[in-house]
Amino acid sequence: MRGKPIHYLANVSRWVWLLIAGSAAVFFVLVATLVALYPDTPANQLVSWTNGWLFIVPAAMAALGVYVSLRWWRCPQCRRPLPTKTAVPEECPLCGLKLREF
Ligand SMILES: [Zn+2]
Repeated sequence: MRGKPIHYLANVSRWVWLLIAGSAAVFFVLVATLVALYPDTPANQLVSWTNGWLFIVPAAMAALGVYVSLRWWRCPQCRRPLPTKTAVPEECPLCGLKLREF
């Protein structure tokens, strides 16, 4: 049986997930707000130069999520980047640090 990722990795993945999911949530709230404010405007004209800057917020959150994963999704001991598409390995392929625990 596999153990759970160590606390450090669980923490990093929680932050990345929160930032990405949060940016999607903020994006949908913005769109819903614009639709509610301007019900007669066609959807493709809702975002203009005057309100487009609002979308910097979700874009920045998503970018921060990517940054956090690039910066901290690594072995805490030797800083080797960890795979993002597959599960966390049992131990670091480079230094052998246990990445999962029971
Ligand atoms: Zn390592």
